[in-house]
Amino acid sequence: LSISTNNMADVFSQRTRSWLMSRIRQRDTEPEITARKFLHLHGYRFRLHARNLPGTPDIVLPRPRVVIFVNGCFWHHHARCRRASMPTSNRSFWETKIGKNIARDKQARRRLHSLGWSVITLWQCQLSSREKRDACLARLIRRLESK
Ligand SMILES: [Zn+2]
Repeated sequence: LSISTNNMADVFSQRTRSWLMSRIRQRDTEPEITARKFLHLHGYRFRLHARNLPGTPDIVLPRPRVVIFVNGCFWHHHARCRRASMPTSNRSFWETKIGKNIARDKQARRRLHSLGWSVITLWQCQLSSREKRDACLARLIRRLESK
């Protein structure tokens, strides 16, 4: 049985559909593109969205054996970040949902480490303003150069 996207609306309720959509990791977000351009400018070559690696890392640098996740602060719960604060309505729903994301991220990091990869996480808020972005990307290059 195959379900076309047209009748997906009939098959799934609104709530189930939005849950399914939220399971799909956002690709090619603005902060991600910023990081990619910067790395490219500095001569790094990389693969994108490597499905064969735990957690499908956004950016994979095979030579220094580094993976980079560019995370949204809310969905991946950036600790002590104001963008990560929980909505006041349906609080337990969101806490469960975000809690699962945190657990999944943690497991992916652990598995990547055991495969010999270094894991770097960049956060959406660190790439938002000009000054923060420059500092964040300079730190990233220093970390990569030390590999
Ligand atoms: Zn943040």
